Amino acid sequence: MGAPESKPAADAPPVIKTISSWSFSRLTEDYEVCPLKAKFLYVDKKPRPEATKGDALLRGSRIHEGAEQYVMGQRDDLIPELAKVKPVIDTYRAAYPLGNIEVEQDWAFNRDWQQTSWFDKDTWFRLKLDVFVNNHDGTAEVLDWKSGKKFGKEVAHSQQGTLYGISAMLRYPEINQVSIKFSYVDQPRTADTSKTFSRETLMRLLPSWNSRAKAMTEATTFPAKPSKISCRYCPFSPNNNGDSSCPYGVPV
Ligand code: SF4
Repeated sequence: MGAPESKPAADAPPVIKTISSWSFSRLTEDYEVCPLKAKFLYVDKKPRPEATKGDALLRGSRIHEGAEQYVMGQRDDLIPELAKVKPVIDTYRAAYPLGNIEVEQDWAFNRDWQQTSWFDKDTWFRLKLDVFVNNHDGTAEVLDWKSGKKFGKEVAHSQQGTLYGISAMLRYPEINQVSIKFSYVDQPRTADTSKTFSRETLMRLLPSWNSRAKAMTEATTFPAKPSKISCRYCPFSPNNNGDSSCPYGVPV
């Protein structure tokens, strides 16, 4: 007969669960929009209803995979979704053999903003980079392929860009200037953006990102923030094929 299972003491304090790691989208699209939504997803690990996943996610994966393979020379044809960015992507493809371009990179940092690996025990912040170019002259370039609309997302993309830039500076201490580029695969090339930051500018923004991320990853309460905006695309709301499991969900 095996040893009896030990039962927790009746007066044992409840285990307080927190969200252990963050990414740009977890922070800005989930936690800061509605802490309860973040709790559902990253503490309770409630699955997103299948119907809310939609084609956009699949299309995004196809675009990133197609771009990676094309830049690396693993395929010679460009998938139709990338046809409009051919002039941009061809420059990376041509330069790839020089060895200073990394594509579809998974970068991870711990709470002290030191590099770690994607699945390490102390992994705190994760980001995926589409293209990173180290010019080996103190400058670098980060490029992100964006699908869908640009309009209305300018502020979010600008914020995301600073986080990419900070991460590049932390990973490569020899870099003093980084250009952050967004290329919109569904738009004409005039929509593309490029902004260059110095190390000094980006490092001034690090404390703010650190505070925001700590607020998320140290939170022990997760209040609902229902509104027509936050609940519109929440998978637990009654909208857009959500499963209506959140009692605070506002119908849109
Ligand atoms: S339905 Fe609304 S209130 Fe409920 S978790 Fe989603 S965003 Fe928050």
